[in-house]
Amino acid sequence: MENFFEETAFIIHAGLTGILFIAYKECKNIFNNLNKIQTFEVGSKLVSALDASSAGSLEYAAISGKVEPISEAIISSQGNQAVVKFLFSVGHFRNRLFSATWGASENLLYSTSTFVPFGLRSPGGFLHRSPLAIIDDPTTADLTNVLTTVGSQFVESENMSMLGHFMNILAGKQKLGTETTEKILPVGSILTAIGRVTRLPDGTTHISHPQHPSGHLPFILTTMSIDDIKATYKVQLRSFGVALLLVGSIAGFFAMRIFCKWVFCFCVKKIRRDIVKKRNPNGIAGLHDSQICITCLSNPREVLFVPCGHICTCVDCWAKLQDYRCPVCRDYIIYGYPAFIP
Ligand SMILES: [Zn+2]
Ligand SMILES: [Zn+2]
Repeated sequence: MENFFEETAFIIHAGLTGILFIAYKECKNIFNNLNKIQTFEVGSKLVSALDASSAGSLEYAAISGKVEPISEAIISSQGNQAVVKFLFSVGHFRNRLFSATWGASENLLYSTSTFVPFGLRSPGGFLHRSPLAIIDDPTTADLTNVLTTVGSQFVESENMSMLGHFMNILAGKQKLGTETTEKILPVGSILTAIGRVTRLPDGTTHISHPQHPSGHLPFILTTMSIDDIKATYKVQLRSFGVALLLVGSIAGFFAMRIFCKWVFCFCVKKIRRDIVKKRNPNGIAGLHDSQICITCLSNPREVLFVPCGHICTCVDCWAKLQDYRCPVCRDYIIYGYPAFIP
């Protein structure tokens, strides 16, 4: 049973170590790439950098500019112009918990998203308007910190009949209401897009999901500064490092214990074979009590336990000891030597 527990614990921790190692490596790769990233504002400097680069592209760069739709903008329920709109509805419930008290819970009922093609333009004046840097497929980008909540409405559930209340109490779940939230990426927001930047033969600039040779890198649209993004990944990297060290050490501890037990069992089997070969064919006939195994009472005492020094069992009973402890003094047995009591 103890072996089963240790093997299961080892497998779980070794698996977690592997997952954490991959996450740590990926995070480190992103952090290293962010550390050496080139930053540009949409404009002539970006165009020059693209012209000077190989194949007219920058594998991973940060471009900042003002959000502008390529064609018609989306109009939010509050009348704001936007290029991305998320609408989601969450149901609020009261649930009976195991402790028979009531707690709150939420459930996503539905969500929709609308995107229109958009790009980034230099935030400068209208006289020298730079061409748009078009964001290709923004649905693949991390948009978490660029969305603004423009509307949130909570609609309470209608009053129920007595029977309805009774049924809810029986079922242990009561709906309180529905909350609908609208989030948008407004036209005119100042953003930084981090991704692959390409200049096509028709002269347009495109920012898209990176396909970097060093591995997976995220496509990010953010209102944060590059230093703040780097700081976020640094904290993440440190957390993964600490978790990796902790879980890896636990996996190592269990691996060591399993290995030591395996070596121990191997040694016991070898010593047992040697002793059984030399066993007196007359068994315990003529032996004094102090020479007979205290566990089975049917074989002579045959093993000297290290380090406690007791000679109290036969080699068969030693091999069957589940807890690896001396039956007399309960000290852990590290090793056993063949013993012959004259
Ligand atoms: Zn015995
Ligand atoms: Zn002992």
